Amino acid sequence: MRATVLHAPRDIRLDDVATPELRLGTDAIVRVVASCICGSDLWPYRGLNAQRDPFRIGHEFVGVVEQVGSDVSTIAPGDFVIAPFTFSDNTCLLCERGVHTSCVNGGIWGNPDQQGHDVDGGQGEIVRVPWADGTLVATPSQPSQEMVAQLLTLSDVFPTGHHAAVSAGVTPGSTVAVVGDGAVGLSAVLAAKRLGAGRIVAMSRHADRQAIARRFGAEEIVAERGTDGAAAVRDIFDGVGADFVLECVGTGDSMKQAMLSARPGGRIGYVGVPHDVELSVPQMFSRNIGLAGGVAPVRSYIEDLLPDVLDGTVTPGDVFDLAVPLDQVADGYRAMDERTAIKTMLTL
Ligand SMILES: [Zn+2]
Repeated sequence: MRATVLHAPRDIRLDDVATPELRLGTDAIVRVVASCICGSDLWPYRGLNAQRDPFRIGHEFVGVVEQVGSDVSTIAPGDFVIAPFTFSDNTCLLCERGVHTSCVNGGIWGNPDQQGHDVDGGQGEIVRVPWADGTLVATPSQPSQEMVAQLLTLSDVFPTGHHAAVSAGVTPGSTVAVVGDGAVGLSAVLAAKRLGAGRIVAMSRHADRQAIARRFGAEEIVAERGTDGAAAVRDIFDGVGADFVLECVGTGDSMKQAMLSARPGGRIGYVGVPHDVELSVPQMFSRNIGLAGGVAPVRSYIEDLLPDVLDGTVTPGDVFDLAVPLDQVADGYRAMDERTAIKTMLTL
């Protein structure tokens, strides 16, 4: 079968690799129907992470189950399934508390599982899924082609935006500012709206992204960045700032912008993968700013978000503005790297 392999920075190829097989009774074999490229995939693509090359990349996919191991009871061949961006048993102490990303038996696509068996990346034709009962969420029926893109966002980007809103504690009628206009930031706007936020400001300089932010529920757009952007947010919200700020970038500048956009007593939910972020705890102390968030435990949110996606209440799949066949995966990466695409879907 074919799968995406990152050989070196900006050298990404679709290679022939071993077709996965069941290894453990708790496994499933899933044929991928659609996958996508994450903003976080761009860090190794650009050579900005310590690189162990070549490696199998991709962690967001939906597909159809082909085979299950003897211990799998809730997932069956033929099911259409959503795979969260980490695998987890959904039964351990930490999964029970909703922190599936820290599952004691869990792991990351493209890396060996805890038994030492290789696990496929998500940007390929077939994936061996460990802990199939715990990891996968099956839809009640086979989705339409249009719905596939919507469901694919439940693999990472929409629940990650939701995690920012939940971590901040967004309440009905509250004011919210979103830092970051990537797919996660746009998803955070949608998630805040879904949770009942009264007034949402999206921070974006790009017309296409501003349009999606407005469609997702942002009432106002702030194009300025940094201290100017934060000052504009404070102006909009009575000169004091937003009740809740959703930080969806992960840089030192974006966190500073988030801190200065929050009102005294406000809370920041952060989901941007941090790179060189430092916090001013004295500033947080004097202004009573709270901070929560981290890597999104997507699996804990999928069942909550799925009904609203299936009935069209929310359309998180609007973040995909480019779809390419898997064999053009290198073009998909280039488009996201050059920011000509917000988010690329890979079709199979
Ligand atoms: Zn667990």
